[in-house]
Amino acid sequence: MNNLIKTKGIVIKSVNVGDYDKIITILSPQYGKMDILAKGVRSLKNKNSPATSLFSFGNYIIKNKGQMYLLSSCEVTESFYALSEDIFTLSYASYFVALIKSATVHEKEEHDLFNLLLYSLHALKAHPENRKTIKFVFEIRLIYHLGELPDFNTCSKCGKGGILYLSKDGNNVYCNTCKDTYSIYLSRPVLYAIKLSLCDIKRAFSFAVEDTIYENLKVISENYIKNCIGWPQKSLDFIYEIEKINK
Ligand SMILES: [Zn+2]
Repeated sequence: MNNLIKTKGIVIKSVNVGDYDKIITILSPQYGKMDILAKGVRSLKNKNSPATSLFSFGNYIIKNKGQMYLLSSCEVTESFYALSEDIFTLSYASYFVALIKSATVHEKEEHDLFNLLLYSLHALKAHPENRKTIKFVFEIRLIYHLGELPDFNTCSKCGKGGILYLSKDGNNVYCNTCKDTYSIYLSRPVLYAIKLSLCDIKRAFSFAVEDTIYENLKVISENYIKNCIGWPQKSLDFIYEIEKINK
């Protein structure tokens, strides 16, 4: 890696250190997760300060000091600060970055997950009222990226189309003939939502489902998250607590 790195990034973690500094973690398309020491960014009028806030999307120039990265300069491309100011969007955006942190490693390119996070934050900012569907799309695309999603077009056993059921562990989909006792029925709206979630990323975030459909979708996607990534319990509990207020 060069001594001076220029990259786009999204801040997925920001921790205060000392009196004026921060250690930020960004997700970069080329370099994956990077921990960067950002000196002096908490002092007033520091020009690098805005791009070191959680959820900031910006351009970063970083010095590679061997064991660590040092922030040289940065500028905001798009601020997602508004997401932190609303308790609903804050809870969902926090959950997204928690999953991204778990699903990524340091210094491995992550173009797809970078785009997924960026589009999710965009969608959340533009349509906070669709946050539940946005969460579902995020989860399903993340699981697909990790290679853990079955092909929802053909039966895992006989290869025919017209699938209607999901196996209990989520690893297989079945037609009416091949289903077993534990298979979960997939209604048409549920199947349609899964397929829409996996289409072109620009379209994937442009639909919304009703709460009753979301309750079915959430069981499926959260089960995948639990099995593939582990349970981001704290950030998911936060969402549940916040949504209770809304009822
Ligand atoms: Zn079959």
